[in-house]
Amino acid sequence: ISRKVREENAKFSRLNVIIIGGGLVGSLCACVFAKRGYKVTLYEKRPDPRKTTACNGRSINLALSHRGRKTLRLVGLELSIMESSIAMKGRMIHPVAGETSSIPYDLVNNQCIYSVGRNFLNQILLNAAEKHEGVTLVFKHKLSDVNFEENTLKLINQETKEIITETADLIIGADGAFSCLRGFMQKRFLYDLTQSYIEHGYMELRVPASRGHKLRNNHLHIWPRGTFMMIALPNQDSSWTVTLFMPFKQFKSITDPEKLLNFFSNTFTDALELIGKEELVQTFFTSNPAPLITVKCGQYHMGDRFLIIGDAAHAMVPFYGQGMNAGFEDCTILNNLLNEHKDNVKASIEAFSEQRRQDVHAVCDLALYNYKEMRDLVTTRSFKFRKTLDGV
Ligand code: FAD
Repeated sequence: ISRKVREENAKFSRLNVIIIGGGLVGSLCACVFAKRGYKVTLYEKRPDPRKTTACNGRSINLALSHRGRKTLRLVGLELSIMESSIAMKGRMIHPVAGETSSIPYDLVNNQCIYSVGRNFLNQILLNAAEKHEGVTLVFKHKLSDVNFEENTLKLINQETKEIITETADLIIGADGAFSCLRGFMQKRFLYDLTQSYIEHGYMELRVPASRGHKLRNNHLHIWPRGTFMMIALPNQDSSWTVTLFMPFKQFKSITDPEKLLNFFSNTFTDALELIGKEELVQTFFTSNPAPLITVKCGQYHMGDRFLIIGDAAHAMVPFYGQGMNAGFEDCTILNNLLNEHKDNVKASIEAFSEQRRQDVHAVCDLALYNYKEMRDLVTTRSFKFRKTLDGV
């Protein structure tokens, strides 16, 4: 072993970790482990998102809550992220006809959720991870094979197609709802897993910045329509990201611009003006509604070294705004368990499965329930007893 390697290893006398996936949870997880003094190597199959403008085809902005903020605080990033987020202090309900009305989230403790850009967040987290000496970010490398007996991984360089074999003291899959690592776990003896899609899909639309001021700020806007709904979250540049959630069948039944414009002018009259007719037709007929999945696992660890977190461990429908937040919370819990077990990886990941299962299954269920609340119940009982959100 050369002197250089010895010196390098001495710098990281603690453990080394491989993280698969450089999305929101993987990149935050890299910051958490860097702060612990671990040597971190993160592999992401896509190109570096800091060098592209693509948004992974998913929600442009997300609601950040108390649960997620705790982990950002742990790595010293909470303040800088909160500075660029927009408080949503309540829901603004848009009925089919008549006045909008506001339902505050929390009049007692004044807590609320915050709209934050997905790309912005991902970039801040990757930059923060990379600042640590012991962190290496490797893009365009896709996990393709896992050997639990030998504790090894195979990754394919997406450009050269070269295959590399890697190992580490701890191997974390933060590779999203269709996790490759979870796919290998699933084939193991007695591994419990359920996955289910709902019959509804979603499509993202947009209110441009030029008309954004017409929606009252500091709210999450909802157009509840019983069996479907539309929502809007604010962006930093005054535009709004609008998401239409509807049964796939209903999306399919809208076959031409005339049907689409009739549907919107009868169902989302005020939103049609804000989105704009041309923009609506253009987006609707050039996009496909995306599916929504729930994944529940019986355990998150495998063997002595492997663990899945984030959507890889518990993908959920987005109606409770907790997917990313719960993934961020995974990082805090794992960090606490490593403290408790004095960096004994096996004991910590086993405890993670034990401690986390019930909670994340419950959040998955609440997320499904909250679709009913947002698209329907919000207009009934709670609506009648709503209080106005003064001063917001
Ligand atoms: P991902 O963001 O999916 O990242 C996984 C990463 O792994 C990706 O970069 C991917 O390229 C990489 N990867 C995948 N496979 C491999 C492989 N084989 N090798 C290497 N890399 C790989 N959550 C909230 O908390 N609040 C919200 O308001 C909210 N709104 C949402 C709205 C919508 C419409 C949707 C669909 C989701 C929403 N979510 C929200 C959920 C949130 O998007 C996810 O929970 C979050 O993105 C999960 O992060 P992740 O890092 O676990 O997974």
